[in-house]
Amino acid sequence: MIIRPAFAEAYPFLLCALSTRQGGVSDGGFGMNLSYAVGDDPSAVTENRKRFFGALGIALDELALQKQVHGDTIRCIDGPGTWDDTDGLCTSAAGVYLCVTIADCVPVFLVDPTVPAVGVVHAGWRGSVAGIAAKGVQFMAERLGANVSGMIACIGPSAGVCCYAVGHKVASHFPESCVVRRDGQHYVNLKEVNRTQLLEAGLRSESILVDPACTICGADLYHSHRRDGARSGRMMGVLGIRRGPGPG
Ligand SMILES: [Zn+2]
Repeated sequence: MIIRPAFAEAYPFLLCALSTRQGGVSDGGFGMNLSYAVGDDPSAVTENRKRFFGALGIALDELALQKQVHGDTIRCIDGPGTWDDTDGLCTSAAGVYLCVTIADCVPVFLVDPTVPAVGVVHAGWRGSVAGIAAKGVQFMAERLGANVSGMIACIGPSAGVCCYAVGHKVASHFPESCVVRRDGQHYVNLKEVNRTQLLEAGLRSESILVDPACTICGADLYHSHRRDGARSGRMMGVLGIRRGPGPG
């Protein structure tokens, strides 16, 4: 099963999709796992990638992949490849499909439909504290000429405030408005942290779509490292500008 965020629907030249844990060939709980780094059979991962990206009409050599490190390094690229120590990618090139790997961390998709330009950001709690979503917006403005007030964004399925309990020390990094306390635990609303950063960066509220799905309690659809630990697979989000006539 593939999720297609509605925020991109008005722009046929955009391709945006997320994998789920369903539809793959990996054994056990891995299912549709798209990561080679979690102990899954590599040939199964390759088959899963062929299935997911093939269903979207994307060739594997059109992917821009990042080796994510929970940092805040964003790169502006103009072709496919794999980038080390990277948690955000952006491009204005068509036919380059930016990937973000997730299993609880927040995937943030950024689009300037006019340039056009696209960006993806991987925002776990560390990246969120570092403000990587806002940095992505700023980076696209500076490097690709994006008009921030005209940008649209999607915050994808990720750990929800319903389940994302953290220790006091981690909670203390976040604004009080994004922390819920119940039963002696601290729950961080990472989606709201990132939405707030996008607003502060200059996006309009109506231009930010937030997927309410929680990966931790959404066990039928989503991988979750918090829930399944070392046996958790990884999903991918992908965003790109299709080859073709463009926005006209
Ligand atoms: Zn939940």
